[in-house]
Amino acid sequence: MHRNILIILILSINIHSNTLMEATSLSKDLYQEIILDGNYKDTIDRPDKFLDFDYGTRVATPEQITSALLAWSKQTDRLKFVEYARTHENRPLHAVFISTPENLNNLDQIQEKVTKLSDARTTNDRTAKTIIDELPAIAWMAYSIHGNETSGADAALGIIYHLIASKDKDVEDMLGEMIVIIDPLMNPDGRARFAKNLEQYRGTAPNYDDQSLIHTGDWPYGRTNHYYFDLNRDWVYLTQPETQGRVKLINKWRPQILVDAHEMGPQDTFMTGPAREPINKNVDYDLVKWGNVFAQDQGNEFDRRNWRFYTGEWHEDLYPGYSFYVQFRGTLGILYEQSRMAEDGVRRPEGTIQSYKESVHHQFISTLVNLKTLQKISKDMYKDYWDGRKYNVSNNSKYSNRSYVILPTKNKGRLNVLANKLIAQDIELYQNDKPINVANVIKQNGLVENEYIIPAGSMIIPNKQPEAPTIAAILEFDAEIDDAVLIEEKQKRIKSGSSIMYDTTAFNFTMMFGLPAVTVPQNLSKNLTKWKPSEEVLDVKKDSVIWAVDGMDDRSVAFAARLLEQDIQVRIIDKESSLSGQTLSRGSVAVLPMDNPKASDLYVTVKSVASDLNLSVASLDSGFGPEELPDWGGRHFRLLKKPQIAILSHSGFSSYDVGVTWWSLDHHLGIRHSQLNSSFTAYGDLRRYNTIILPSGNPDMNDYAKKMLIDWVKQGGTLISNNSSTRSIISSDDIGSVKNLNTTFEETESYNIDLMREIYSLDDIVDITDANINKINLDITYPWESSDISYDSKQLEMRDKWQSLLMPSGSIVAARTDSDHWLTFGSEDIVPVLYGNNPILMTDGNSEAVLRIGELIPNEDIQTNRTINWSQIPAGYDMNVRMSGLVWPEASQRIANSAYLTREKIGKGQIIMFAGEPNFRAAARGTNRLFLNAVIYGPGLGTDMLVTP
Ligand SMILES: [Zn+2]
Repeated sequence: MHRNILIILILSINIHSNTLMEATSLSKDLYQEIILDGNYKDTIDRPDKFLDFDYGTRVATPEQITSALLAWSKQTDRLKFVEYARTHENRPLHAVFISTPENLNNLDQIQEKVTKLSDARTTNDRTAKTIIDELPAIAWMAYSIHGNETSGADAALGIIYHLIASKDKDVEDMLGEMIVIIDPLMNPDGRARFAKNLEQYRGTAPNYDDQSLIHTGDWPYGRTNHYYFDLNRDWVYLTQPETQGRVKLINKWRPQILVDAHEMGPQDTFMTGPAREPINKNVDYDLVKWGNVFAQDQGNEFDRRNWRFYTGEWHEDLYPGYSFYVQFRGTLGILYEQSRMAEDGVRRPEGTIQSYKESVHHQFISTLVNLKTLQKISKDMYKDYWDGRKYNVSNNSKYSNRSYVILPTKNKGRLNVLANKLIAQDIELYQNDKPINVANVIKQNGLVENEYIIPAGSMIIPNKQPEAPTIAAILEFDAEIDDAVLIEEKQKRIKSGSSIMYDTTAFNFTMMFGLPAVTVPQNLSKNLTKWKPSEEVLDVKKDSVIWAVDGMDDRSVAFAARLLEQDIQVRIIDKESSLSGQTLSRGSVAVLPMDNPKASDLYVTVKSVASDLNLSVASLDSGFGPEELPDWGGRHFRLLKKPQIAILSHSGFSSYDVGVTWWSLDHHLGIRHSQLNSSFTAYGDLRRYNTIILPSGNPDMNDYAKKMLIDWVKQGGTLISNNSSTRSIISSDDIGSVKNLNTTFEETESYNIDLMREIYSLDDIVDITDANINKINLDITYPWESSDISYDSKQLEMRDKWQSLLMPSGSIVAARTDSDHWLTFGSEDIVPVLYGNNPILMTDGNSEAVLRIGELIPNEDIQTNRTINWSQIPAGYDMNVRMSGLVWPEASQRIANSAYLTREKIGKGQIIMFAGEPNFRAAARGTNRLFLNAVIYGPGLGTDMLVTP
C-alpha cells in the first residue's frame, strides 16, 4: 500500500511538472518555413542536438551555444574558433572563423596582408593591387549585443551550422572566396539574465502579450552586461572586457563588413540599410554607397519572401561609440533591427501572431544574403578601401594639417587610461621633449591663440595617420552637423519637444576625461619621440614620518580608500604643500606612522597598496612646510574617516546609472560596499553606513522612507545623489535649501546677490586709495545696480518655458570650479561636464555651489554688468558655456550660472548633489573624480567627526 501511494505520488509529480514546464511556444506550429533547408553532411551534428527544443523555436542559452561550438570544432575542418575575452561573470566570448581548410591554415598570412593593405605609408599601389587580387573577402557577423534581443544569436547558431555542414556548391564556392568570422553572442551575461527571466515567467500557455513579464523581463533587464552597461555604446570608450577583447580582434582583422544584429520594438518590422543624417563627417562616403548595394539585395530577398522591412528612418550615425566605429576604419557597418518576439511570439495590431522562429529566420536570411553580396563586390570594396587608406595619409586630405595636443598633467593615472584607449584603436602617440612654438591654436573653450607654446612633455597626436578618421572623430572638439539637420532638430524641439538625435552629440575624449588639450592647425612631426607613460617611483622608506601620494592623480583616491578599508588612519593635505623638497598638489594623501601607533609594518601596507595601483609614493622625513605652506600638525592635514558605503538600487532607478556607480566603486576603488534594495531605507538599519548613494532614478520611496534617510543624514551621514534623484530631492520642500530654477523666480534678486558675492570674492583688484579715504563715499555702485536690464518673475517664467524646449542633448558645457573646495581635488579650474535635460540647481547662502555652469573669460572692453535671465555676468568678463555638441543659445542662457554640483551641511551630515550623471558610461572621468572625492572624502571632510569618549 505504501508502495502504491509512492508510485501515485511520483506519477502525479511527473504529470504536474510536465504541465508546468513543457515548452509552451507554438512557434513551430505558427511558422511552417524551414530555416535550415540545405543539403547537409550527416557527420556534423544538427543544432537541435545541443538544444532541448527544435532549433529556432526558443532561445538558446549561452552554454548551449558554447557546447555546439566545441562539438563542431571537432567535427569539421571548415571552422576554427578563438575565445577573445571572458565576461565579468566568466562566460567565454568567441569569434568563429569559417572558411575552407586551406584558408583556415593560412589565417596568419591573410591577416598580415590585411595589415599591409592598411598602411599606405609603407605599401605602394602595385603591392596593394597584388594583395587585393589575393585576399579573400572578410566578413564579421556579430549578434545580440543586447542580451534581450535574442533572435540574432539563434540565427548565428544556424548560420554556423549551415556554412560548415552544407554540401551545396554555392556555399562551398563562397567559403573558397571568403573568411566569415561569426561572433554569435556578444553579451552572454545579459542573455543569461534574460533567458532566466523567460524560464521564470513561462506558464502553461503561450503568451502573445508583449507587455507581459515573459516579454519584458525584470529590472535591470537583459539588454546590458553584468554592470548594466550598454555594450553598444562602449566601442570607443572601451571600458568593458567584452568590448576590449572584441575591438582588439576586429581591429586586427579589419573586416570589409561588420554586421551588428539587434532587435527593436515588438510591433515593428525589420530595419536595415545605411544610416540617415546626422552621419559623422569622418565616415568615408563610399561606405554609404556600398551600404545601399547590400540593402538593395537584402530588400529584394525580403520582397521575394513577402517579409516587410524598411531602411534608414530613425537610424543615425553621429555618435562614434556604436559598432559603427568600424566605419572610421574603412569597414562597412550593417545594422539589423528585427522586431522582438521573445519566444512565444507577439500578437500584432492586424491580429496575426508573429512567431519567434520567423524572427530568427529573418536574421538568418539577412546574413546569407549579405554574405553573397560581399562575395560579389569584395574586390571593388577593397579598391575603395585602399583609396581611403591612401587618402588618410596624403597631404591633400582634410586631416593633413591638424594635430591634437594633450597638455602635460600630474594626473598620470588618467592620462595613461586615455592613452591605452587611443592605442587600442591603432592611433600613434608622440611626445615632445622641448617646447614647440605654434600659431593659431584652438583651445577647448573655442578661443584661438595666435601665438602658443606647446609645453615639453605634452602628448602629441598628428591627425595625418592611417587611422585619421577615428582620431578626428574622437579628438576633434566638435562633430560637424549639417545645417539641414540643425534646422529639422530645432523645428522638432519647438513643435513637440522631441529630438532627432539618438545619442549624445558630444563625445570628445579629452573633455570627457577632463584633460586640457589644444588643436594645432598643422601637422606636427618634427622633434617628436614615441609617447611612453612616465615612470612611477615607489620610494617607501621604513623610517619616514610621512608617506604621501600626489592628489592630482585619480589613483590617490583609491590609495586612501584601500588604506582606510584596512583601518589605517589617513590624512588629506587640503592645500598645495612643499615637504622635504617635494611639491604636493592640493588633495594629496598622507599616511603618518604617528597616527597609527598600533599598525605594525605600516610601510609594508603602504607599499603594497601603492604597488597594486602602480602609484608613486614619496617618503618624507620632515613635516615642516616653509613659510605659509602647511605643516603636519596644522589644520591643513585633515583626518579622513573610513567610508561605509551603500548604493540604493532596484526598481525605479536607472539601471545604467546604478551599474556605472557600482562599476566605478569596484574598478576605480576596489573596496567593499553594499548595493541595497531602496525599500530598505524604510526598515533596514542605516547606521551601518555613513555614505549612501542615490543613483539617478525615480525610486518608489514613501514619505516615511524619505524621513528615515534625512534623519540618517542629520545624524552625520553623507548622501550623494545624481540627476533624477537630485531632481526629486530638490522638489521636496523639507530637504535642504537647493532648489530647482523654476521655483525661484520670485526670489531671483537674492540668488543673484549670493552669486555676485561668490564671483566678487575672487576679485584681486582693490582700489587702495578708495580704501584709505576717511570721508564717506557716496559714489559706490553695487554689483546688482550696474546692469542694464532686469526681468520680473512673469518674464522669467516665460523665458524659462521657451528655453526649456531647447535643452542640450548630451552635450559638453564648461563648469567653473570652486578651487578651494575638497570636492574639487584633482580637478582643473574648468571641468567640462556632460549636460542633458538636468535639473537646474539654484543655491543660496546656505549651500555651496562647487561647480557652476559657465567659464568666466576676462574681457576689459566690457564695462557693465550684463543680465542673463536671473543672474548677471560681471563687468570685465565674458562667459562661455558650450564646449562641444549641440547646445542652443537659449539653453546656454537657461543653465548659465546654475550649479552642477552642490554640497550642503544638514545637521551633522551633508547632502552632495550632482545635476547630471557624473560617471556616465565610465567615460566621464573628469566628473567621476568629483564623485569619488564625494564618496571617499565626504565622511571625513564634510561631516562632524565623532570622537568616542
Ligand atoms: Zn539593440
